[in-house]
Amino acid sequence: MRYEKLAEVYDKLASTTKRLEKISILSGFLDDVKKEDSDIMYLLEGRIYPSYDERNIGISNQIAIKAISKSTGTPSKKVISLWKKKGDLGEVSKELTKTKKQMTLASHVLTTQKVVDNLRKLPELEGKGTIEKKLSLITELLTSASPIESLYLIRTLIGDLRIGVQESTIKYAILRAFFNDNKEYEEDLQNAIDRSNDLREVFEYAIGKDIKDLEKIKLEVGKPIKAMLAQKAKDIDDAFKHLGAPLGVEYKYDGFRLLIHKKGDKITLFTRSLENVTRQFPEVIGYIKEFIKGDSFILDSEAVGYDRKTKKYTDFQAISQRIRRKYDIGKLSDKLPVEVNIFDVLYYNGKSELETPFKERAELVRKIIKEHPYKLIASKMIITSERKEVESFYKKALKDNQEGVMFKNLESPYKPGRRVGNMLKMKPEESELDLVITGGEWGTGKRSGWISSFNLSCKSGDEYLEIGKVGTGIGEKENEENKVTFDELTNLMRPLITKEKGKEISVRPKIVVTVHYQDIQKSPNYKSGWALRFPRITSIREGDKPLSEIATLEEVEKNFLEQRSRNYKYG
Ligand code: AMP
Repeated sequence: MRYEKLAEVYDKLASTTKRLEKISILSGFLDDVKKEDSDIMYLLEGRIYPSYDERNIGISNQIAIKAISKSTGTPSKKVISLWKKKGDLGEVSKELTKTKKQMTLASHVLTTQKVVDNLRKLPELEGKGTIEKKLSLITELLTSASPIESLYLIRTLIGDLRIGVQESTIKYAILRAFFNDNKEYEEDLQNAIDRSNDLREVFEYAIGKDIKDLEKIKLEVGKPIKAMLAQKAKDIDDAFKHLGAPLGVEYKYDGFRLLIHKKGDKITLFTRSLENVTRQFPEVIGYIKEFIKGDSFILDSEAVGYDRKTKKYTDFQAISQRIRRKYDIGKLSDKLPVEVNIFDVLYYNGKSELETPFKERAELVRKIIKEHPYKLIASKMIITSERKEVESFYKKALKDNQEGVMFKNLESPYKPGRRVGNMLKMKPEESELDLVITGGEWGTGKRSGWISSFNLSCKSGDEYLEIGKVGTGIGEKENEENKVTFDELTNLMRPLITKEKGKEISVRPKIVVTVHYQDIQKSPNYKSGWALRFPRITSIREGDKPLSEIATLEEVEKNFLEQRSRNYKYG
């Protein structure tokens, strides 16, 4: 397919914020996509591989500037000054290409496949002359691009497509394009997406317009799968009301989710955001080999940090570095040991266990592992119908430095990636939200060189809306009282900067953080209409929690209403 056709669709999608319109534009387009062009499914999300694949396009603004300069014959300085004015390198490229195109006569036709082919070579390049080679692959595309094509090429390269399309938008577009918008098939389609995590694969099965074909998409060991998510329980009675009695109650560990895949000798570890963290946890690989029986499996677990001396459990932030740090791994695993708590099994010895009732899955977990406390154990669980028993178990969990408890319906299947309500969480009332950083401000004086203030946003549909700024409670030195540090945040944000104006910057929404605050107020100062009072970033969830799981505007409002009813009760 001509890339121009896709670029026009991007443009249409970007021109509306209405979800239904986006779905209708996309479904019309998908109707025209042929099976051999199925890589377009990746391009629609600004990618060249499925979302879990680590091979990113990853082009810095600097390289993009050079490529624009080379392909349009414009000095870099001018490209930069236009960028400062427009705040979008894509728009800069579009404008400069327009002027240039008036002078050149013929241009080549760019196809989506050519774009994918060139972009796929970028992450493969290594060693001497890499930058030059990258530049020439990009300039080759840009020189044959029309203005609108160059706009979306640049945005794809720097990872900021700005068309407001999420996986769910694509799902509804597939449902409409191939299954007549039959809502009865939505669940099957969603299940297929959750098993596959690869929209190209789903598209290739959906294009035949037979919903049964989607069943051919199977769980694959070694390919990441989304973890099942929890909803909130108000209290113990609420949990019994929703899940029935008896139910399973487990510790809610304050660590990070770890999905363990094993096939023969090959073990792979994934976080909840599908990041491959195998290399970061050599000791865990050892535990799995030694303490778990089976030729192939996918297990769900939570890794929790503890203090080697006191044997006390620590909180997530204390071990969050273990997910992100790619060097000194041996030292770090000595300093910050983790215990793996296994609580579910999705696949075992060649058979999917997704449909097996939870009670049997929990029994299987306990059959196949040999427990070694402070290394690898089955999660602490009771099965009970007694309120009192739950109460004392909950207290024990808190005393053990854990967050609270999880309630699990004993008959339910495992639903990857979904908050279906057969797993509920309960923790002490706390004012916290998972938010994303969308901007900030460079510091001055002692803090120059660091980003020293951070803009926090929640989401609403495809948009990110600011809800506060935070600059206090952040550490200046590594490991200072276990705080998040300026250094860490600045390093994570630097490659994501999309706009700079004086000291203020905007960044591509990527870094998810947990924020504690005193209360929420209505506020005209922020786009969300809300402001957090005294927010504090308590942990960086980058690599752990995906962007799709940050707080929504509805959740913010719910927290506000809850806080108000608490104040009535106690105030
Ligand atoms: P939250 O992050 O507050 O939405 O809580 C859900 C998270 O709790 C899951 O994603 C897991 O990482 C974690 N968790 C801790 N203990 C358990 C457990 N026993 N069963 C399931 N999830 C758990």
